[in-house]
Amino acid sequence: MPSLDDIVQVAESLEKSPVAVIEDRCISVRNRNSTCRKCVHICQTQAIEVSANEIHLDASLCMACGACTSVCPTEALVPLKPTDAELSRAAAKAASMLEGHAVFACARISSKHLADPSLYAEVPCLARMEESILLSLVAHGANRVTLVDGVCDTCKYRSCVPSINDTVTFVNELIEAQGGNVRVERVSEFPQVLLADDTRGLFGSTRRGFFADAAGAAKETAMAAARTTIEQELGYKPKKESIGSRLRVTESGTMPQLEMPRHDVTINAMDAIGFPVVERIESRRFASVSIDVTKCNACGMCAMFCPTGALKRDETDDVSSDIKQLEFTACECVQCGLCRDVCWKGALSVSSEVPTDQLFDFDPVVFDLRKANRPKMIGLGRR
Ligand code: SF4
Ligand code: SF4
Repeated sequence: MPSLDDIVQVAESLEKSPVAVIEDRCISVRNRNSTCRKCVHICQTQAIEVSANEIHLDASLCMACGACTSVCPTEALVPLKPTDAELSRAAAKAASMLEGHAVFACARISSKHLADPSLYAEVPCLARMEESILLSLVAHGANRVTLVDGVCDTCKYRSCVPSINDTVTFVNELIEAQGGNVRVERVSEFPQVLLADDTRGLFGSTRRGFFADAAGAAKETAMAAARTTIEQELGYKPKKESIGSRLRVTESGTMPQLEMPRHDVTINAMDAIGFPVVERIESRRFASVSIDVTKCNACGMCAMFCPTGALKRDETDDVSSDIKQLEFTACECVQCGLCRDVCWKGALSVSSEVPTDQLFDFDPVVFDLRKANRPKMIGLGRR
């Protein structure tokens, strides 16, 4: 569930910006040594600034493409226009009228009024698309997914094209890895069946509610809508804490650990699509971590700062002040790289390639640190 502070930050952003910045989800705010600047690099208008422990989005420069929200590993940047829930609902509802064909179109081609708008979901730019919504639709029975662009070469968002291509490639690779047959396609014209002259026959006998539970398809991605609902319908205005007070080390000896709704939807959708047919998956969403125990001094900083708890101390370990084992759970890792960035011994590496048996196995990988050099211990508190 989103925290109350998340809700307030999103609610405050609704009127100002197409993107909400949830500051304490940003790993560069969490730790000044983070090298993550994915949002900064993808933003074409330099609207985002990230420096030690700070992130700032200049809404006056933001062109609302949504590209930053698709690359942030920790979901610190949340698209608001539309939200994930609104987009999922619109796509599922439209797909129910096209017998499972889900179509998304950018605002540019949409503005040409070539197709019935009830038969597709509109986004400002296709760069806003990411894995969780597309995979979720496939997992719920979409038999075809089409992204329609407005001929990007002459569009103000054209610099986002590599990001769109990355999303299509990654999604298709993830579906293929699970043995799924559906592929996401990107085209510059609406499929014939959506064109205004061809749509009349769709209403009636063919409108069978393929997605009987369109809202159900959106349920798992309802985080943003929940925030909006709580704020707008309940008028709930909780007291806002400062970021500093929220990012304190908890009693368990770690920084606060965060839920990752999009990440969870993605992995659950993959699980629903099928079983892995490959030994390894390479993607921007998952990672595997390895530790060189000959360099590691078991200080535990990696586990302390990991935003998801993917890397943590072995809870059954016999604790004095030393850490003897660390556990890594691949399905919880979001490839943020913070564990690597905070390791001052350079002992830790993060790979975008993950063995599928690790990704879908609840048993963590255990790193035995008994051989680690431990001259200076920074013990983690007991859980
Ligand atoms: S991509 Fe996300 S985690 Fe990385 S710097 Fe930007 S907001 Fe922070
Ligand atoms: S294990 Fe490392 S890369 Fe994965 S989520 Fe934790 S800090 Fe980020």
